[in-house]
Amino acid sequence: MGIAKCSKCDSDSIIFLHYVRKHFCPRHFRELFEKRFRSTVREFSMITKGDRIAVGLSGGKDSTVLLRCLHELSDDLPMELVAVTIDEGIDNYRDATLRIAKRETRALGIEHKIISFKKEFGKTLDSIMKNGGSLPCSYCGVMRRGLLNRAARELGANKLAIGHNLDDVAQTTLMNILRNEPDRIARFMEPQIKHPSFIQRIRPLLRTPEKEVAIYAMVRGINIDHQECPYAQSAFRQIVRRQLNEMEESHPGTKFKVLGSFLSMDKAMKVKSEKTLKTCSSCGEPSAGKICRFCEMKISFF
Ligand code: SF4
Repeated sequence: MGIAKCSKCDSDSIIFLHYVRKHFCPRHFRELFEKRFRSTVREFSMITKGDRIAVGLSGGKDSTVLLRCLHELSDDLPMELVAVTIDEGIDNYRDATLRIAKRETRALGIEHKIISFKKEFGKTLDSIMKNGGSLPCSYCGVMRRGLLNRAARELGANKLAIGHNLDDVAQTTLMNILRNEPDRIARFMEPQIKHPSFIQRIRPLLRTPEKEVAIYAMVRGINIDHQECPYAQSAFRQIVRRQLNEMEESHPGTKFKVLGSFLSMDKAMKVKSEKTLKTCSSCGEPSAGKICRFCEMKISFF
């Protein structure tokens, strides 16, 4: 059997998108990817002319592709970009992605700030885990979110762009349902959060499946690191991820449907949940309680 042809031209196909039942060659796949990226930005009014956007750049495929797409979009929609990388201190993993983040920002001429757990708290994530820590993703996630918000603000950004893709959003939605934490669904998109120190987060890859981000990087010749964080396997997210991938395989379009449900729930809940955050009495950052989770974890683990 020969190589399948693109559904739009005579070129060889590199990917079959089962949810639209079409083959795509590199040119038409890139066209589809970039069109969807731009229409997502428009659909959610994510960017306004003149925005200064801090991009959370781990150096993994999602954030690297996000930075590249935003940089290209800035030709038509003028915006300023800066990048922030958090170095948690994870051996045999973060160094490679840090190198990619430095390479990309240098090539695009984008200001790049690197913040490390070691410098901020005196300890790496690895050292906490070696000394009896458990649930690495729980505190890594909270600390990273806090540091990214602070760095974006200090860099004068009014938005923080995150590389969450369709799979991430579908996984998060299901995890919140399975844990019976509907409030987290309402908080996920966050534009309703009001606090002078809170930087609004945007997710332009929201409608893009994870696999397609990797294919796009390949099509564009963006050299990415395919390693996964060594702590990722222990996370509940990995179980949900496997199940969702199986569902997608047997019922194409499942992830888009979960995203659709999330957006409907988010819309319905937003009406009731406009939220003004308090200010943490310890660090002054936005907080749901008297002391934010960032400070609670800093006291417990660092
Ligand atoms: Fe942190 Fe977990 Fe992500 Fe690793 S997988 S970077 S530990 S949140």
